[in-house]
Amino acid sequence: MEKSKKTTLVPKKKVSKGKKPQLLRGMRDVLPQEQPYVEYVNESAAQASRAYGYQRIDVPVVEEAGLYVRSVGETSDIVEKEMYTFETPGEDIVALRPEFTAGVCRAYIEHGMKNVPQPVKLWTSGPLFRYDRPQAGRYREFNQVSWEVIGSNQPAVDAELISLGNHLLTDLGLEVMAFVNSIGCRECRPQYISVLKEYYKTHKKNLCEDCKNRLNKNPLRLLDCKQEACRAIAESAPQSVDHLCDLCREHFMKVLEYLDAGEVMYHLQPRLVRGLDYYSNTTFEFILRKDQEELNPLVLIGGGRYNYLVKDLGGSENTPAVGMAMGVERAILAIKESGVQVSQPPKPDVFLAQIGETARKRALQLLEELRKAEIAVAANVSKNGLSDQLSLANKYETKFTLILGQKEMIDKTIIVRDMENGSQETILQSKLIDFLKKHINQ
Ligand code: AMP
Repeated sequence: MEKSKKTTLVPKKKVSKGKKPQLLRGMRDVLPQEQPYVEYVNESAAQASRAYGYQRIDVPVVEEAGLYVRSVGETSDIVEKEMYTFETPGEDIVALRPEFTAGVCRAYIEHGMKNVPQPVKLWTSGPLFRYDRPQAGRYREFNQVSWEVIGSNQPAVDAELISLGNHLLTDLGLEVMAFVNSIGCRECRPQYISVLKEYYKTHKKNLCEDCKNRLNKNPLRLLDCKQEACRAIAESAPQSVDHLCDLCREHFMKVLEYLDAGEVMYHLQPRLVRGLDYYSNTTFEFILRKDQEELNPLVLIGGGRYNYLVKDLGGSENTPAVGMAMGVERAILAIKESGVQVSQPPKPDVFLAQIGETARKRALQLLEELRKAEIAVAANVSKNGLSDQLSLANKYETKFTLILGQKEMIDKTIIVRDMENGSQETILQSKLIDFLKKHINQ
């Protein structure tokens, strides 16, 4: 076996042992009461993905850091400031995934998916990591659902993907709209960028420090700076849609036509460039309709075309693609803000209370029998007193409480208490399941 030089990833001297462990900044625990929201969003997303013909893929949380540097871009905020990168004992430089598209494209190439009928429609979901500045709806570990359509440049594919976003968010109970733009291809974009740079040079002294740097490194990003002074300058900046080549213009017009036909509500947003380098042509974002005048609306879904990424990552031929991702925490925030009622987990049908040690043993068996018979049963086998257990049963709001005490153990019976009217009857344990099946759904 190859002997690695380092034996551990933990810098021992820096680990404080005295301090009480606490949640890291930007991380969050998803407590039981939050889970119905998470399930609601994830299940709706899974259903929509299947309805639109996407197949599930899962890619690793840890990949070579170089994968993201090559795809997301060296000068992107993600690579410059936000990636959790570390060296393994085997001296590989790896990163926690900051987004899904790069990993999915790597998988597409590595598994030769260009040999199956195109386009390949894939969806995935899970946690992502960005060392971002934490604020409302912005975490350092967050979850996305992501969709990629790889192997087609058809504008109808862009429109169908945007339509999926629209339907999913609407099905979640949200009133949304899309912002759309086109940033052109590698043929027409350089000309637009030089016009953009000329414009910004005349405003250089009023730009924030980040934007002064972006002017040479990543001029498109000047357009989506959130600083007030930079925003004002961006308002009058030249627009990419006015500098598209014929092919890109035609593509964009078709996308808009299809969106009109699909009755997707959208606005053109000429400053929508998105933060990642790999985008080309169509870019889009979904926000709540009520936020459309906001300076910093909460973006629920973001996406766009990435016609060069598969080739740039080593794919053998031109493989145009388009994708989008929904922020799960953002969707939940919007659902709560919009007052959407999310269904709570189903309540148990019965509560089983036991009194005494022999009854507890039998209760453990009975619980298994009831679960096998698909009767939803709650219990607290750590309790002995009846009043404690009855008040728990009240909390669960079960229809019946089953009571098993010493006398019932001797007679092989059980007391069934109707929690609605307080009446109770004693029946044989052997008849319990039939009795409950008959009475639960009455
Ligand atoms: P992006 O991968 O940056 O295009 O983002 C896609 C979507 O993920 C955004 O529209 C947000 O809904 C969500 N998102 C991005 N960054 C974060 C974050 N730090 N915390 C929570 N959600 C995020």
